[in-house]
Amino acid sequence: MLTKAYAAQSPTSALAPHTIDRREPGLHDVAIEILFCGVCHSDLHTVRGEWPGVLYPSVVGHEIVGRVTAVGSEVSKVGIGSLVGVGCIVDSCQTCAACARDLEQYCENGFIGTYNGSSLGGTVNTYGGYSTAIVVDEHFVLKIAHEEKDLAAVAPLLCAGITTWSPLRHWNVGPGKKVGVVGIGGLGHMGIKLAHALGAHVVAFTTSPSKGENALALGADEVVVSTDEEQMRSHAASFDFILNTVAASHDLDAFMSLLALDGTMTVVGVPASPHPSPSVAPFIFKRRALAGSVIGGIAETQEMLDFCAEHGITADIETIAMQDIEKAFARMVKSDVKYRFVIDMATLNAD
Ligand code: NAP
Ligand code: ZN
Repeated sequence: MLTKAYAAQSPTSALAPHTIDRREPGLHDVAIEILFCGVCHSDLHTVRGEWPGVLYPSVVGHEIVGRVTAVGSEVSKVGIGSLVGVGCIVDSCQTCAACARDLEQYCENGFIGTYNGSSLGGTVNTYGGYSTAIVVDEHFVLKIAHEEKDLAAVAPLLCAGITTWSPLRHWNVGPGKKVGVVGIGGLGHMGIKLAHALGAHVVAFTTSPSKGENALALGADEVVVSTDEEQMRSHAASFDFILNTVAASHDLDAFMSLLALDGTMTVVGVPASPHPSPSVAPFIFKRRALAGSVIGGIAETQEMLDFCAEHGITADIETIAMQDIEKAFARMVKSDVKYRFVIDMATLNAD
């Protein structure tokens, strides 16, 4: 199926109209008309070639929501007309120990990304949600219980939501826990909302003082401007868990020293250049840990979506036209978005 898309042809070329070929739906496939797609910082890292191994043309976008237009004869999960989502994963081996534990994101044979992923054992590139339609195996399709009017604001849950939900759950964030969220961007603002909804005491860390008041409205109990040393010192050795979503290289020691005994800081940001190596002292004196986490499994993504529908949680978004994507990228680099751009795909259809 010839499908309209926006693609980067090289790390230095702006995104521009492009046509891709989607497969015809197979027995287990779901064909989806894409209605909205969120703009993740990973999209920007990828199209600009900031991470190794990017294949061009590159069509990014892994916060996809839309409506089912066709299903293969073996599909039972959804039907034509259902509202559905697709996140960062469109395939995995489904037989390894990790997949057997519903941890497709840690598939031992490598999961297939919604974009810039080559099919298992093959070399065919995958193309993401900056397009009008996609065809995905039903296992990787998520059901959406939110009302249709909220659909655009649901899109960011497919990456920003699950990438923050998974570590918050894994490290048992809940009532009685003091939790820090570092960086109030697309991921961070979801981290604040979800940690708050899970019952934790949430402290937001930002380099943008103007985001302070807004962070309280998102559900933070306190806000710390991380460049203010005095504010940072007042929280020394007090956190059970810190979720660090910063998209740029920075000093991790400043945050490690805020962890209490046995506390953990989990990084999910993947900056283009590495963080300075952290010092040993903050680790050993309070048995602190530094950890990482990547997106989340499909069952866990469904759990997060259902939790959000139940608790009335969506992302705070600014809707844009596909044609304005480069302006949106430029603002994202300056941390100037509250808190996620979402592309209205009707604008690409009109192109
Ligand atoms: P984003 O919307 O750009 O947010 C990143 C935030 O980091 C900014 O809003 C800013 O928050 C803070 N920040 C930016 N530059 C900084 C600097 N130099 N020093 C300190 N803070 C800085 O990005 P995002 O979409 O949330 O993604 C964040 C990172 O996570 C990206 O690297 C992305 O690729 C990665 N990611 C990882 C996964 C995973 O599975 N692990 C999944 C998705 C995305 P303040 O203005 O509040 O300081
Ligand atoms: Zn993402």
